This record gives sequence, C-alpha cells and structure tokens, in this order.
Amino acid sequence: MSAALELACQAAGEWIEGLDTRSVAATATLPDLRRTFGGPLPGDGQSAEEVIRTLARDAAAGMHGNAGGRFFAWVFGGGLESALAADWLVATWDQNAALYSASPASAVIEEVAGEWIKELLDLPLDASFAFTSGCQMAHVTSLAAARVGLLERFQWNVEDNGLFGAPEFRVLASDQRHITIDRALRLLGIGRNALEILQTDNDGRVPVAVLDRALSGDTRPTILVLNAADLNIGACDPFRELIPLAHSAGAWVHIDGAFGLFARASRTYRNRLDGVELADSWATDAHKWLNVPFDCGIAIVRDRAAHRTAMTSSASYVAPTSVARDQTDWNPEYSRRARGIPVYAALRELGRSGVEALVDRCCMHCLDMVEGIGGLPGAEILARPTLNQGLVRFGRPGASPQENDAFTNETIQKINETGEVFFSGTTWRNRRAMRISVVNARTTERDVKRAIAAAAAVLTRDVLERPSN
Ligand SMILES: *Cc1c(COP(=O)(O)O)cnc(C)c1O
Repeated sequence: MSAALELACQAAGEWIEGLDTRSVAATATLPDLRRTFGGPLPGDGQSAEEVIRTLARDAAAGMHGNAGGRFFAWVFGGGLESALAADWLVATWDQNAALYSASPASAVIEEVAGEWIKELLDLPLDASFAFTSGCQMAHVTSLAAARVGLLERFQWNVEDNGLFGAPEFRVLASDQRHITIDRALRLLGIGRNALEILQTDNDGRVPVAVLDRALSGDTRPTILVLNAADLNIGACDPFRELIPLAHSAGAWVHIDGAFGLFARASRTYRNRLDGVELADSWATDAHKWLNVPFDCGIAIVRDRAAHRTAMTSSASYVAPTSVARDQTDWNPEYSRRARGIPVYAALRELGRSGVEALVDRCCMHCLDMVEGIGGLPGAEILARPTLNQGLVRFGRPGASPQENDAFTNETIQKINETGEVFFSGTTWRNRRAMRISVVNARTTERDVKRAIAAAAAVLTRDVLERPSN
C-alpha cells in the first residue's frame, strides 16, 4: 500500500482506539483551527504522505469524539465497523452510482439494501426508495413526489409547468417538526407560507381533533407531515388515527422518521409507531440509528410512478437500462457515491436481530441516563424517554425560570468541558433543557455511568464553589 494510505489506515485505527480516553469535545479553538489550517494557497504541492501525516495530526484536536460511546448531543449515531470499512471501499472503487451501466455492482447492492430496509422497517414492499445525502434530502425527494401526486389530480403537470399558476396547496405539520421540513418546502418552491402548524399536546403528539379541525372546510390539496419520533423527546404521532383521517380528506401523508423509524425493528418499541406504514412517503437516515458513517438518508415512496416522475432524468447519452435500477431515476443527485453500500454492510453485520438489539440497548441506556442525571441534586427530569431521547433541566432552589435557563446552559457547557461526555441543549415548552439522545452502537453501560458521574461532579462542584457569575 502507498505510504499515504498506510498512514490514513493507522490514523483511523488510532482514532477509534482513542475514543475511550480522548476528550469527547474538540479542544481546539476557532483561532487555533484557522491558524493551523490557514495560510495562502500552496504554490507548489507536497507528497500525499506529507499531506495525510499533517492532516491526521492537526485535525484531531478539532474533532468531536461522536464516533465513540459518550456523545449524546443532537442525533448523530456512529459507524459500525463493517459500514465504515465499506465506506472506505466505496471511496476506493470511486464508482459513479448514478446508473447501472456506470457501476453495475453499486446499482445492484443499493437495490438490495433498499429492499432490505423496507422489510426491516415493515413498510410496503412495493414502495420505491432512494439513498440520499440525509433525511432533509429524503424529505425533498418524497415531497417532490407528493407535489406530483397531488397536482396530477388537478390535471396539473408540475414537472413541465412548475408551480407558477398551479393550484394552491398547503402543508400541515406539527409544531414539533424538524427544521429540515421547512427547508425542503423552500427548496421545492412551495415556501414557508404554505405551512399550517398543528399544535401538539403535552406529549408532543398531534391530537386527532386538531387535525380534524385543520382538514375540515378547506378543499385545497394537502400534504400532512407527521413525526415518527420528534427530535426532542422521541414523540410519535397517533398514526393509526391520523393517517386514515387525512386520507379521507385526500391528503398525502409524509413521515419524518429520521431516527425513529428504526424502532420498527424492535418488538418492544414498534408499538410506538403503530400505523406508520399507512403513510404515503417516509424519510429516514442510515447515518443515525443504523450507525452508518455520514452521510446517508433514505426516502421511501408508496406511489412509485409519482416518485419516478419527480426524479427521473433522461438524456440520449445516458444509456438507460430497462431491467436494472438506475439510481438517477429516483435520486435528486446525478453523479453520486454509492452511499447505499455501507447500509448493505451494516444490515449484513447486524441482521434483523442486531438492529433490534441496538435499538433496545439505546433506549435502555437513554432511560438510565435520564434517570441517573435527572435524579442528581440540582437536576430534574423534563421528559422521561419513551424511546431513545429524553430531557433534563438544571436549577437552583428559589431561582427564576430565566435564571435556571441560564444555569442549564452553563451546566451543559461545564459537563462538556470535562471531556468525559458531550450533550447539547434545546428549548422545550419554553424551557431550556439538556437533551440526551442515544443512537450510537458503541455506547455501553460503563459509558452511561461515566456520563452520570461527569454530571454529578459538575453539579457538586457548583454547589460547593458557588457560581462565579
Ligand atoms: C436529524 C433529523 C432530521 C434531518 O436529517 P439530516 O440527515 O440532518 O438531513 C430531520 N428530522 C429529524 C427528526 C431529525 O432528527
């Protein structure tokens, strides 16, 4: 192997081995990083070996340890070894996975991975799919299909005519929706003003009466977006009631299941998502709960024809094949890496039972951590997890809600500064909270104990030392 490749391999091994002992939070500051990497465009080049040596050495301090088991911020997931190694091969093969004719094996492996994903998530087996860069682009892909499907009923060809002069339609979505829904609507030319917000109940779910009211008395074509686990507390809408109601009004139902859809693989947790299979399209991520390295999202669409119409691109030089699956017919990208191959590897490594065990383990670790940290003096549980996400808040006796918002932010920062563990904050029902999201296959019981100990140390220190400001 070339020296550069050897070095990269060695650095990757050291990185993974060091995840248990290195600071979870990046330690380099913004000025550090600009100084380290900046400077003028090189006039002359250097050896690949030298490039990789310095890159691996210098970047480490500016990287978070989210590949490891003690990073619970946002919803990041990790990288299973098979998926990571498969990702290296994808880069090495350097295939253009746009067409079967451009990379036969990539097309077939992605085709199989897509079929397996539908089976794993228990979604309609005859639905179409696409491996996109993330859940947001899976929303774009699915909602582009929704736009075709809805407007067809009004004899409007949106692919030819666009949205100028089209029948006006609206999008109903929960107040707990992810911000990528809004961006998908902007990218599709639908715009934010088409959104009508549905107020959720105390459990973060859209009540039937709220949807019923929104649907009645408005005859415009409608897209309804529901959450299969919202980003804060993993709330799942009551699909079994909401989806038939929306369908009776002619709406297209799209599901944001970025991480939550994978709970379908667990016999313990799948009841949280009962009825989600009734929807028209689903967006999820392989780079979250399936633990495939960034980046990989998945769009799944019941109406294959609408999906294909929305995405296909045919030109005389593309040599389309009638029997094989050309990814460009289903994907928003043209040239693309075969990001479905790491998914295939992950599914082979885990199997159905392995995904189930991963989901169950993450949910258990999340509950232990929320109870462990939430039970410390100076902490309270704001949302006990029903899946793999929960919220805790920090406060001092007698302090105002605003002061405790600030105290919560400070405490999160201090916990992260220990380097033991990393959390992010959120605002939920107008209160600041620390979000605990567990989606990494590497998280163990020992990691949970270390996380609770780090939070305990910060809270104890804070009580003993009194706050400095
Ligand atoms: C992460 C997330 C998204 C966005 O996914 P990307 O892969 O970052 O595009 C959408 N919805 C939910 C609920 C998420 O957690």
